[in-house]
Amino acid sequence: MTDPTCWFCSDDVRTDPPPGGWVYDDAHWRVGHAPASYAVAGTTILESRRHVADERGMSDAERATLADVTARTVEAVTRATGCDRVYRWATMDAYAHFHLWLVPWWETSPLRGPRRLVDAVVTGGGTTPERATETAARIRDALSASV
Ligand SMILES: [Zn+2]
Repeated sequence: MTDPTCWFCSDDVRTDPPPGGWVYDDAHWRVGHAPASYAVAGTTILESRRHVADERGMSDAERATLADVTARTVEAVTRATGCDRVYRWATMDAYAHFHLWLVPWWETSPLRGPRRLVDAVVTGGGTTPERATETAARIRDALSASV
């Protein structure tokens, strides 16, 4: 079921696809690179296809596949960016729809923990559309190789 006012599941609200298109898509999940103006290159959003806020509302099939799709996406972001770790951020603040931000972190990054997340996603100024699209293609390739 979709919520007609939700950016994540209503095509009437979300008129712009992720940079480079979806990098992964199945019956329960889809994955796309974050919009270039929002976050550093490699920042990837895993979202449920159904309008559900968190694990409490997920079906058995969604719960059973979430860890696997998360692991595959973390591996793909790691391969595509060469990062040392993949941070996660999920607040469901703007929309009560499950979306997990996966944010690359390097040992050379000047910030750690929540400060890194704020810098990468809120105050850092994002990346270029070209870089987002190129990184999305590498993440898609890595996800395809992991099947
Ligand atoms: Zn939704």
